[in-house]
Amino acid sequence: MAIPRKSFPNFLDRNNAIESPMWVDTHCHLDVEPLCLKQIEVLDRARNAGIGHFIVPGIRGPAKNFISPNVLFAWGVHPGNASFFENIDLKDLFAQRNYDPVAIGEIGLDIQSPADFNLQLKIFSTQLEIAKAENLPVLIHLRGFWNQALAALKNTASDLPWVMHAFSGNFEIAKLFLRGNAFISFGGSLCFSNAKKTPRVALETPIEKILLETDAPDMAPPGWKKDENEPAALLDVAKKLCQIKKIELSELKSQVWKNIQKARLMDDFALHD
Ligand SMILES: [Zn+2]
Repeated sequence: MAIPRKSFPNFLDRNNAIESPMWVDTHCHLDVEPLCLKQIEVLDRARNAGIGHFIVPGIRGPAKNFISPNVLFAWGVHPGNASFFENIDLKDLFAQRNYDPVAIGEIGLDIQSPADFNLQLKIFSTQLEIAKAENLPVLIHLRGFWNQALAALKNTASDLPWVMHAFSGNFEIAKLFLRGNAFISFGGSLCFSNAKKTPRVALETPIEKILLETDAPDMAPPGWKKDENEPAALLDVAKKLCQIKKIELSELKSQVWKNIQKARLMDDFALHD
């Protein structure tokens, strides 16, 4: 039986106004080591850098949620963990959650996952069905298997926003997803000194379809310690994107803020304003 939404406390600061655009890290793993061991200082550094909101994806179903203003949680099984969920009823597991997620993710397909393709696809598809039933956006992790993922998204989630987290394909592939409901999310890999493909995708992707993330603690941009990336590094990604697009930071900030609303990643926040 589906648990009605709004039955749990959420973690939003309802007194915080949302009129003015803020930077949002749409994908950061604040609930894993080493970030979870120093949450308060990590969040302080991020807030000092101007990051107003944070979305924490699930990788083994529920995120390890905690109460902190403006930290939002998604729910999902990462394709790299698919083999642990072979015999688990994901819809049952979802029904046991203790919070209302803002999205289903991170979910998808990964050519490097130890789980075989058919199991990954089954787990991905079941979670797309959950997203559809709950009318939630999906946070998509994809490494390879582009056509299979696109087919599954079109088949089950054609009406939902697709957030293509840390998109690693080329622009030809990005276009296929952009013809659907995709937003392309850029992280630290945009800033790597040898990056060519991702800057090209950023250049060609319409600014109305761009989101920003850090994927912390992974994907540290230059200047951040490997495996200790933090949401505060979001500004490095934003600055790089501005260089590529030849726009001002303020323009990017307000456009990405609008995109976050369009991708419905902060629906709960708006509802409780
Ligand atoms: Zn992630």
